[in-house]
Amino acid sequence: MPNQTPTSLLSLTVAPTKVLRGFQALAQAGDAIASLGRRPLIVGGDRTLAVTLPQLQPVLEQQKLHFAQADYTPDCSEASLASMRQAVTSHQADLIIGVGGGKALDAAKLLAYQCRLPVVTVPTSAATCAAWSALSNIYSDIGAFLYDVSLSGCPDLLVLDYSLIQTAPPRTLVAGIGDALAKWYEASVSSGNSEQTLIIAAVQQARILRDILFQKSAAALQEPGSTVWQEVVDATVLLAGVIGGLGGAQCRTVAAHAVHNGLTHLPDSHDALHGEKVAYGILVQLRLEEILLGNQLAATARQQLLKFYAEIGLPLSLDDLHLGNITLVELRTAAELACATNSDIHRLPFRVVPEQLMAAMVSTRVPLDLKSGSTAENQKLSVRTDETHKH
Ligand SMILES: [Zn+2]
Repeated sequence: MPNQTPTSLLSLTVAPTKVLRGFQALAQAGDAIASLGRRPLIVGGDRTLAVTLPQLQPVLEQQKLHFAQADYTPDCSEASLASMRQAVTSHQADLIIGVGGGKALDAAKLLAYQCRLPVVTVPTSAATCAAWSALSNIYSDIGAFLYDVSLSGCPDLLVLDYSLIQTAPPRTLVAGIGDALAKWYEASVSSGNSEQTLIIAAVQQARILRDILFQKSAAALQEPGSTVWQEVVDATVLLAGVIGGLGGAQCRTVAAHAVHNGLTHLPDSHDALHGEKVAYGILVQLRLEEILLGNQLAATARQQLLKFYAEIGLPLSLDDLHLGNITLVELRTAAELACATNSDIHRLPFRVVPEQLMAAMVSTRVPLDLKSGSTAENQKLSVRTDETHKH
């Protein structure tokens, strides 16, 4: 008998049941929405609902759906979810429609999961892949990251309407690029040596995603609505989602998101978007690999990112996140939270303590060690980094 090691049961939630994508996609989504329920509860924030409702309302009315609204503010928090569950009951909702950015969509998905209802996501920016994923992040009422919840599935319908996304501030797409880039830098660390077919596929997709973003982001940001802009929106909302879905629980976040999570506990951190803090967190993660492993490939990867970030407007440092004036005590608080026992930072292949993380957090812009060679040699190295930056 061949040797068979028992494998644990794999449970995958790869993708939404259906994705509708295009300009004016929402206006054409009536049938798909109506097939999921007759009494939708629309979850969003004040501002996004004000912008989106004039377009959503006629779609729902044409289908003769009886809808109500629920505000998820102040945050995707336990208290907000409790009040939204009451709204589900009082409206007798049989469908949740999430409209907005990552937090609104996370709130809608988790609400639907808790109430065992189908859910439609309508992202109004390309700042995260929350419209796709089977995961919700829970924050405190003042925006400090608390924990994440794995959901039973991806949304039943994702409506990616370019016309809506185009009305969002350009900065949200920049943030989405930062969040999507993290897929490669985190997945290659947590799963780069995996022998499993689906994990290998997820990590390779993350590399492709990174390359698409390197090649197309600058042009996309210059011309919102253009073909290249649509491709970058697809990359940040859809392909980033595919990677999370394919990689599943084993293809998790590492230090970049752990640093983000720690930073959210600083009151001043809320000026920066999720993807902006995550992008900075990638630099911190690479710094840790440089400092603690002497990893030269990490050093050149960081230089490559610094150049790219400067080009498209992602933060290079705490200063750029408007956190240049935090105290040492605050820096330590963020570092200690990022190093908590259950933090994903411990998926790094080496141990990290808060003092080391603090050193990395304040040195993301440090130039390459001059001893490491001439510019030409560095360029050669950075090509190699492209090919082999795996751990
Ligand atoms: Zn993220």
